[in-house]
Amino acid sequence: MTTIYLKPHKEESLRRFHPWVFSGAIARVLLDAGHQGNAPAEGELVSVYSSMGEILGVGHWQIGSIAVRILAFGVETLPADFWNERIRAAYLVRESIGLIRPDNNTFRLIHGEGDFLPGLIVDVYADTAVVQAHSIGMHLCRKQIAQAIIAEVPQVQNVYYKSDDTLPFKAPVEGDKIGYLAMTDCEKAEDFWSTENSLQFRIDWLRGQKTGFFIDQRENRALVERYAKNKDVLNMFCYTGGFSLYALRGGAKSVDSVDVSQKAIDLVNINVARNFPEATNHTAVAADAFEYLTAQKAAGKTYDLIILDPPAFAKHRDAIKNALRGYQRINAKAIEMIRPGGILFTFSCSQAVDKEAFRLAVFSAAAQVGRKVRILHQLHQPQDHPINIYHPEGEYLKGLVLYVE
Ligand code: SAH
Repeated sequence: MTTIYLKPHKEESLRRFHPWVFSGAIARVLLDAGHQGNAPAEGELVSVYSSMGEILGVGHWQIGSIAVRILAFGVETLPADFWNERIRAAYLVRESIGLIRPDNNTFRLIHGEGDFLPGLIVDVYADTAVVQAHSIGMHLCRKQIAQAIIAEVPQVQNVYYKSDDTLPFKAPVEGDKIGYLAMTDCEKAEDFWSTENSLQFRIDWLRGQKTGFFIDQRENRALVERYAKNKDVLNMFCYTGGFSLYALRGGAKSVDSVDVSQKAIDLVNINVARNFPEATNHTAVAADAFEYLTAQKAAGKTYDLIILDPPAFAKHRDAIKNALRGYQRINAKAIEMIRPGGILFTFSCSQAVDKEAFRLAVFSAAAQVGRKVRILHQLHQPQDHPINIYHPEGEYLKGLVLYVE
């Protein structure tokens, strides 16, 4: 196996179980005999040693500033049952914290570094797991990963692989980036339902965004349910209507769902019809958020409760300034439309934007439109999206619930 030697003292973060080796920390690379080319291949398994020659761990090689993502610390090679053991451990956590129940078969099974599998995401919908690789190393292991999921997660019978949008572009990729890795029924994706807290959601992993659904808002949706009674609710950036269904179940007077994607809006209507066939107090509109809010404001419309859950405005550090401007703009538009004594649920899923910067953008928005706000709750990602304490970069979702005077 190819071995990597670090520069003196560069082993310290690995000793604290931070799972990344930066390229600047590497002193020497000894290529495996029989290696073609003069550098490790992207995705190759490499073992990492300190400058003193002590073994630190084994991980996947990557092209770029993060050179190795460690899979196992303190060993030279991966144990034979590595994938089964890691996936079993992740499943047992979800089971022991009460996420797997007859009324809830929707959960994230693997959250990258948070489950000690950097570069891997697995979401479970009823009997189907959707796998996303964010590294070539994980891509090359996709078949072993699928086998381990089938063996270790009793409810799963189908595994769909969906990495066309997530793999890095730095090296050519061999093998399919999408397709079934295990399947019992190929018609499945056409009319597939998964249950979250007794609500049924139509999941379309073939055509939907990300793995098909945003599981990360489950607990925050449940909080909306608690505040929705008798309220006029706007669910902006609604996708397939997650927050809308909880608001309806919470007794909202009316719910308006808005998303720029017509496909998403079609699914909102299907989801509402399935869960609340009698509902006459829900409307769904395909529109751009800024245009919708501007037009509604001009028409004198107001709401008691608004949810703002936009896509990541900053995908990279250099986009942070623009992102903060975007958050301020959209929040100002929403706060203006909240009746006195109303509530705003506002989120950012940009990893590059931290809590403090987001809070400042939202407070600036309130000040800009002359409204006094108080924080009722500070929200974050749920327990099946755990944050590896040695890898705080894994914290990405943050939200505020504001009382607007
Ligand atoms: N709240 C949702 C997830 C939202 S994801 C849930 O609980 O499932 C973000 C959504 O914003 C996507 O559905 C995307 O289509 C939508 N979106 C992106 N740009 C938009 C825009 N300019 N106006 C309205 N919606 C937009």
